Parts: sequence; structure tokens; C-alpha cells
Amino acid sequence: MSYSFQTKLLHNQHKVDKSNGAVSVPIQHASTFHQSDIDSFGKYDYGRSANPTREALEETIAHLEEGTRGFAFSSGMAAISTSFLLLSQGDHVLISEDVYGGTYRMVSEVLSRYGVTHTFVDMTNIDSVKNAIQPNTKLFYIETPSNPLLKVTDISAISALAKSIDALTFVDNTFLTPALQKPLELGADLVLHSATKFLSGHSDVVAGLAVAKDPVLAERLAFLQNSFGAVLGVQDAWLVLRGLKTLHVRLEQSIKSANKLAHYFEKHAAIKSVYFPGLTTHPGFTLQHRQAQGPGAVLSFELKDGVDLRTFVNSLEIPVFAVSLGAVESILSFPAKMSHAAMPEAERLKRGISNSLLRLSVGLEQVDDLIADFDQALHLAANAFTEQRRVYHGNLR
Ligand SMILES: *Cc1c(COP(=O)(O)O)cnc(C)c1O
Repeated sequence: MSYSFQTKLLHNQHKVDKSNGAVSVPIQHASTFHQSDIDSFGKYDYGRSANPTREALEETIAHLEEGTRGFAFSSGMAAISTSFLLLSQGDHVLISEDVYGGTYRMVSEVLSRYGVTHTFVDMTNIDSVKNAIQPNTKLFYIETPSNPLLKVTDISAISALAKSIDALTFVDNTFLTPALQKPLELGADLVLHSATKFLSGHSDVVAGLAVAKDPVLAERLAFLQNSFGAVLGVQDAWLVLRGLKTLHVRLEQSIKSANKLAHYFEKHAAIKSVYFPGLTTHPGFTLQHRQAQGPGAVLSFELKDGVDLRTFVNSLEIPVFAVSLGAVESILSFPAKMSHAAMPEAERLKRGISNSLLRLSVGLEQVDDLIADFDQALHLAANAFTEQRRVYHGNLR
């Protein structure tokens, strides 16, 4: 019998421990494993190569992403960086122009030193992608929806294009998770995750995951995981496994609230624009609807000129003002000074990441409490300049 995703989160091969029936995966701390004989080694020998707790997480994510094999790393960047080691000197990467800052840094400042070249492209425009292909293009690297403008890339179309020139497709699925989007079913070769975000969901662990579809590619990644050695620790693997159990219910709740908030912001006089793939006015709405099961719980919005961003942020009581996303608590971030601070201002503005853009990851708070909080903060922010002028003229008198 094949169960729905929601049920699979709880009822999978790691539902109970086979040795004693425990309903929580045991944490195996051992770094090494006794071998019974000089020429018969057991399944486990050394903790970097394999560990039963980490393996439980790796099998669970492979099952959820419909892949053949999963890999757990010490961070999302460790998963992404190790996967880039599948490339060789002389290879070329085509990569989303609004990719995660850490990935941007890895490709432009590290891989470039090893003879792997790259081109940043607008992955939502298939003609731009086709025009950027080089004879040595070996990898298409996608993030969809993108950060922070939530642009939607057609995974099937890009994967088909990649296959036609014998290149691989990697998809960073951090924003949606397999609860909403399954890139391997759409033709991608490798799915990557910062499990720090929605998968674990509680802002209490840094972790990364990768899932391969083709067994040969999986074997090559297993070799690299062991060679590079950036594996996930067992306590952290357990925290991700625990977070995963509530993934569906957390996302369902957060998406409902994100939809309501997006409509609220869209109508508000102090807001210039809202970016959320769940709005019918979003350019990627139809595609998002076709390739994913929902819009996700991250949205961005821009304040109108004359609405004071500092007053707005300082007046909010509920959301945490921080980097990161995908947690039980709502997280507000300011891309210009946080995730995209390393980008030169001209590049940033060219990509539409203005100085009045804010990104919100919607958590599990009562949505009307969130709206009331945004309402009072927007009111103060919209009147801040008038207030400053009043005080200034008052001082003159
Ligand atoms: C956070 C994030 C990463 C990096 O993951 P870490 O766990 O912080 O190393 C990669 N991609 C996306 C989309 C992210 O949001």
C-alpha cells in the first residue's frame, strides 16, 4: 500500500527500532565498530563512513524525495559544496542568478580557483538559459522559488534541456521541501537541502541533505561524502528526524497564514509590491501551481517610498528579525543588509532587491495576531516622516 506524504512522515522504515521496538530512532554515538573477523567486516566500520542514526535520516529523506539514496551533511552548504565536487576541472555551471548567497560565494570564489567556470542566468527565461550554454556546460543549478523575489523556474524544462546536452540538474529544494515539490520526479538528478530550515523547522540545528536518483551518481556522491567528510553529527541527525515528523502540519498551517498575509499586504496602502507565488498576480503562479503542491511559506514585500523601514522593523513585536527561514516562529529579514549584503549594490538593485524590500518566513503564530502586529508597525512607519518633520519644525520654533 502506498501512503500519502503526510503519513509517510510518520510511518516509514524507521517508525520503530527493530531491536527493541523503541518509537524514536536511537542515537548511536560510537565512532568505531568492532569487526568479528579479519576478513569479514560488518555493515558499519567507522562513523564518518556510516552511522546508524545518520543513516536513518538519509534513508528517510531518500524515501520522502522519491530518490534512491540520501546523504546527510553538517550544513546545507556542506551538502551543496560536496555535490559540486562531482564536477571536474574544465567544467562549466549554469546557475540561477538569484541563488542563495553561500552558493553564490562557493561558485564564484572557490570553484573558480579550481578551474570550474560558471554563468549566472535568469533560469525563469528558457531562451536566456539556452543562449548561455557552453560546449563544456556540465551542470544546471536551480533554486525555485528563488530568494528573495520568489521567481519560479520550470524544473522539467530545464532538466530536459540539461539531458539533451548530457549535463546534470541539481535543485535546491530548501524553500518548498518534498512536502510541496519533488524535483527528482520532474527530471532533476540531485536534490539539495538546507535542513536547517523547514525540514527541521525549529531554529535549533544546522544541517544539510542531498538525494540522488541514479544509483551510479549516488555511488559517486557517497564516495565524495566519505572523502570530504563533512558529515552530520548524530544528535543533529536525530533533531532533523524529529522535526520531519511535523513537516506537513507545520507547512500547511504556515502556508494558510502566508496566503492571508500576502493578500493583506497586497491591499495595504503602505506596501508597494508583494512577491508570493500563491498570488494569481505573481508571474510564476501558473507554473508553481503545475509543478508544486503549494506556494510555500516565504514571501517578500516592498515598502512604499516615504514609509520608514527602520521604524517598521523596530515597531514589530512578533516576528524575529534575523537571517534564516522555515521555523515555527515567523522570521523577518532585510535582504539588502543580510542575505545579499555581499552583493555590490548595483548588482543587487539590478536583480530587484531594493533597499525597501523585506522577506518574511511565516511561522505558526495565530495569523490575526501577525496581521495586527504588521498593521500597527506599518501605521507608525507610514507616519514616521511626518512625525520627524513635526519635531524638526517644533525645534525651530
Ligand atoms: C540556508 C540556505 C542554504 C544554506 O544552508 P546552511 O544550512 O545554512 O548551510 C542553502 N540554500 C538555501 C535556499 C538556503 O535557504
